[in-house]
Amino acid sequence: MLDDMLPDRRLLLVHAHPDDESSQSAATMARYLAEGAQVTLVTCTLGELGEILVPDWAHYSPRELGEHRQAEIAEAMAIVGVTDHVFLGGAGRYHDSGMVTTPDGRAGVPDDMPANAFWRADLLEAADHLVEVIRTRRPQVAVTYDPHGNYGHPDHIQAHRVLMYAVQLAATPSHRPDLGAPWQVQRVLWNTHNTSRWAEAYAIARERGLQLWEEADHDHGDDSAGRMFGPDPDQIVAVVELQPYLDICRRALFTHRSQVNAEDPFWQFFSIMQELPGSGEAYLLGAGQPFPAGDGPATDLFEGLTPDGR
Ligand SMILES: [Zn+2]
Repeated sequence: MLDDMLPDRRLLLVHAHPDDESSQSAATMARYLAEGAQVTLVTCTLGELGEILVPDWAHYSPRELGEHRQAEIAEAMAIVGVTDHVFLGGAGRYHDSGMVTTPDGRAGVPDDMPANAFWRADLLEAADHLVEVIRTRRPQVAVTYDPHGNYGHPDHIQAHRVLMYAVQLAATPSHRPDLGAPWQVQRVLWNTHNTSRWAEAYAIARERGLQLWEEADHDHGDDSAGRMFGPDPDQIVAVVELQPYLDICRRALFTHRSQVNAEDPFWQFFSIMQELPGSGEAYLLGAGQPFPAGDGPATDLFEGLTPDGR
């Protein structure tokens, strides 16, 4: 039986673009791999419309950038140790939708996007690709973004929708039995900003003179920066500590060279945040079983769950 061959603890992560997994989930993936869990990463697009930070690559077409970013994420996942990585529906099925910045400084949906942009995906078709992944991998815990895509990128919002829908469909016996036996994910977590660490890092970065969100600050005062600090800390149900995996996290992140420049003030701020004592990847409870009551956020995403999902 396939069941007997699966590790006891199984984790699924759904991210929108190559690099999101390394900036938001690298410590989580590295930790659970180190502990012998099964870790499956699904990336929804190739990130063809990401802003290219390396001048030598500025001429890349979206198609070329997508190919380049597949190589970047392959290298990053080799560093983290992830061997089960799939693109939703196969590489190139869904195109990066792109993002615009609205006049009030928020992320918005572009007017024009390719016909196969992820934002325009048929939700059932996209979810069914994930239903197959869920039914074959049988994760107890699934991770994606919150309903706002954490900061509003259309592809992050869509990744959230697709996972939330797929979790329902995967557990429904009458739905597409050809995609595998039904499976109930026990807990859905939404990755989020680690609010208090974000605020601490922001203060340190400002002290060091880093120019952060300069334009937004100028237009809207500190409120616009504050908006990015994350959820009410009381809502954070789990934090996976970064410190033991800091080196892996940084190496994986900087493998995404087309997107991540260590000299950029944002990534300098990000490094400051990662290095803070007690820093970690934070989660909200999206659906399913809450964590057992305890003091502060849980430290294990599987706490209180059973391996067989019943
Ligand atoms: Zn992204």
